[in-house]
Amino acid sequence: MSQIALDEFHWILDVLQSIDVGLVVVDRQFNIQLWNGFMENHSGIGFSKLQGQGLFHRFPALPESWLRRKVETVLALNSPTFTSWEQRPRLFNFISSKPFTGRSELMYQNITILPLTSRNGTTDHACIILYDVTDAAMGKLGLQEANQQLKVLSVTDRLTGLFNRGHWEECLRQEFNRCQRHAHSSTLMMFDIDFFKKINDGYGHLAGDAVLRRVSKTLMQVLRSTDVAGRYGGEEFGILLLDVDEPGAMYVAERLRIAMAEQIVEFDQHHICFSISVGIARLEPQHATASDWIAAADAALYHAKRNGRNCCVLASRLPGLLSEAKPLPAQVDHA
Ligand code: GH3
Ligand code: MG
Ligand code: MG
Repeated sequence: MSQIALDEFHWILDVLQSIDVGLVVVDRQFNIQLWNGFMENHSGIGFSKLQGQGLFHRFPALPESWLRRKVETVLALNSPTFTSWEQRPRLFNFISSKPFTGRSELMYQNITILPLTSRNGTTDHACIILYDVTDAAMGKLGLQEANQQLKVLSVTDRLTGLFNRGHWEECLRQEFNRCQRHAHSSTLMMFDIDFFKKINDGYGHLAGDAVLRRVSKTLMQVLRSTDVAGRYGGEEFGILLLDVDEPGAMYVAERLRIAMAEQIVEFDQHHICFSISVGIARLEPQHATASDWIAAADAALYHAKRNGRNCCVLASRLPGLLSEAKPLPAQVDHA
């Protein structure tokens, strides 16, 4: 090598030593042949202590079989390979020196593995290049998390945690279409809290809110995970019972009605009881749209109110026999 070429070689070594990228060169036996400053700084081990030593022996936490396969493929095909942090967050468990949010201390790494061909034409070494992409990764993860939260928020009613009206109606429309395509039926239940205005007037709006939250909690206890519950209006709720017929829905509605009437909400030293009225409508061939289906359940609910409240009414039984209204739970019960 000429004098100039040798000088340049030293410059290159200086550059490699100090760049903000990890460089590791290994031979076919995975013995360490180069370990630059980035690797020294982050591992805390100098090259002089590692030179010629087995990579997996010195770093047992490395994913040995994965890395062996990668390096062997790179050497066999004589072509580089790239692995992003999204496929594998990191190769070396280094602590990140510039955490983005402080949420993760471990460095995220992109990895390139290059085949190194000697002057005699043989390819017996591979260079593993590590890029610290912690900032970008944390930014992207934070964004994904924020998007996920936004998605949940956009379909959720803040007070009750149930689906909000928009999302619930979308579920109903989808179920309406599904039923039409497959010629089967599901059942819709609409219910409304009885004399809810009295609770607000008697104990205040916050007490009303506490009752609404209890309604939602009770719903979650009584319903199955396949039932789709949403807050339709102020104190009106809709529940879609998938592949359930009217007798099945009546059974669920009665369980719900009884469970609600048994609740006692303690608020500000008051004990508040309440009841619900329920309208039930199976999807019928004459329902041309999802709105027709809601209207049928609403009509049944209206009759439940007219019938004395605290009862469940089937749309298919209108205007015939109505189920018996039950005595209302005492709504005002001072401690
Ligand atoms: P009925 O038995 O006929 O259903 O009588 P009701 O008093 O329950 O019905 P009405 O529709 O007259 O009253 C509903 C009340 O619900 C009126 C409204 O102020 C209240 N409301 C609606 N949304 C909320 C809410 O988010 N929180 C509270 N606390 N009250 C609400
Ligand atoms: Mg009401
Ligand atoms: Mg109402």
